[in-house]
Amino acid sequence: MKLLEVQGKEIFKEYGINIPKQFSLNQVDQDVVVKAQVLTGGRGKAGGIKLANVHNVKEVAQQILGMQIKGEEVKQILIEERLNIEEEHYLSVTIDRNSKDYICVASAKGGVNIEDVPKEDIVKGKFEDIKDQICIGKQNLFKKMLQIAKEKDAILVEINPLILSNHKLYAADSKVIIDDNALFRQSFEGEKEGGNYVELDGDVGIIGNGAGLVMGTLDTLDYYGGKPANFLDVGGGSSTEVVENAIDRVLENKNVKKLLVNIFAGISRCEEVAQAIVNKQIEVPMVVRMVGTNQEEGRKILLDNGIKAFDSMEDCVKEIVKNE
Ligand code: GDP
Ligand code: MN
Repeated sequence: MKLLEVQGKEIFKEYGINIPKQFSLNQVDQDVVVKAQVLTGGRGKAGGIKLANVHNVKEVAQQILGMQIKGEEVKQILIEERLNIEEEHYLSVTIDRNSKDYICVASAKGGVNIEDVPKEDIVKGKFEDIKDQICIGKQNLFKKMLQIAKEKDAILVEINPLILSNHKLYAADSKVIIDDNALFRQSFEGEKEGGNYVELDGDVGIIGNGAGLVMGTLDTLDYYGGKPANFLDVGGGSSTEVVENAIDRVLENKNVKKLLVNIFAGISRCEEVAQAIVNKQIEVPMVVRMVGTNQEEGRKILLDNGIKAFDSMEDCVKEIVKNE
């Protein structure tokens, strides 16, 4: 399974690999790059990567969303700080089928497909064998990439370009492929299907995006005396369809007597989430906490349909507990 750039970068972050700062649409306060989140490469050439600034970022985001790139519709974007590119390098870790060992590939001529880089500009081999030919910064990156490959069952971990900007190295793009045979023991933030679903024995159904957010919601509910019936983490980049499925899954549990939806939208867009909630014609008492990308549009959709949206998770939890 191939991961989206944004999912790969989430893993990079977890392992301490430096990535460019990310923004949600209405947080942008500097020059940025807007990047289509699709699984095909060559997005730059296809118009899926555009520079933007504070003034035109929404317009640019709109242009990219809905675009088709090699037959794949763009449903997600990633907004990042615009780096001042001094050099573009290449790093990857793959598995060698014959020796069943990890192979590191490095080049100072990155930013293009590695197949197009002349052989003499490429360093390739086992980490121990090549480490003396690369700088300390790249050695450290390889150690982290090798750790990712092992722990996440990745058959490819690629950074291209690895950008040198103001004396620092940034993983400006990510390409991570997980071994399909290992998917049973891995799950990824932003995964399209499923999400993490857990059943408990209270009466409040909980839907949130992001494991941390869901855990925080459970703690807050507990603090105010509520009891969760189940919870579902829908991950990042939740479309209308993903949220609709999440609602179905949570409401399937007959113990659910009320519903709490907690969305902190970054890549996800509030209006898409709101549309899903409205489409589902939910019968049980429900509260929604909704902040982030397009929150005004999202809340308007909810309000027009008589559904209360809150700024703070606390207020949301207090309200759902009050209905006891
Ligand atoms: P790909 O074409 O799908 O592989 O997408 P990449 O993420 O590799 O980006 C393609 C190209 O976009 C890079 O090689 C850069 O030239 C350009 N790019 C990406 N991020 C930045 C940035 O922060 N600043 C600038 N100026 N260009 C960027
Ligand atoms: Mn790339």
